[in-house]
Amino acid sequence: MRQFNVVVLGAGGVGKSALTVRFIRDVFVENYDPTIEEEYRRPITVDGQLDSLEVLDTAGAEQFTSLNEVYIKSGKGFVLVFSLTQEASLQELDNLRKQILRVKGGDARVPMVVVGTKLDLVNEREVQRHTIENLSRQWNIPFYETSAKRNWHVTEVFEDLLRQMRKYYPAD
Ligand code: GDP
Ligand code: MG
Repeated sequence: MRQFNVVVLGAGGVGKSALTVRFIRDVFVENYDPTIEEEYRRPITVDGQLDSLEVLDTAGAEQFTSLNEVYIKSGKGFVLVFSLTQEASLQELDNLRKQILRVKGGDARVPMVVVGTKLDLVNEREVQRHTIENLSRQWNIPFYETSAKRNWHVTEVFEDLLRQMRKYYPAD
């Protein structure tokens, strides 16, 4: 069994903690403390192989701090989170993605997944699927539309990332 460090990044309030806690504990936490930064661990079997994910739910108020650099250095895979109900939160991901690539020496194959949250809030939706599809193609990063509240497509995010990490960091 191998262990992979995953870092969850994105603007404040987009649902990073709700997504992380849904994956780790399979519950929806309505009001998670926005200042709490926590690391969780969960075993996960994908394609018949058991591994362990160590998931860091970041809570930085500012997006581009030097702290981010520290997290990115130690991270093996990245979950880039935005809210489908907030267009601006998607634009922020481009900066995060560039920061990750810079810290990782410019290798565009660094394992990443783009995640749109709050899919259940249909009436508040601001970001259209084709907008995400275009960015996803341009960045060459897979994307998922999720709901932590309804538990839609949350596990798929981490399974995809684990497959990418296995490929990118071959076992010795
Ligand atoms: P973070 O700051 O990125 O960690 O965001 P949180 O996980 O704390 O979520 C911010 C707010 O969005 C909270 O009020 C959550 O209850 C809400 N939220 C998060 N995910 C979902 C979701 O999938 N559906 C709905 N309806 N609300 C969500
Ligand atoms: Mg949080």
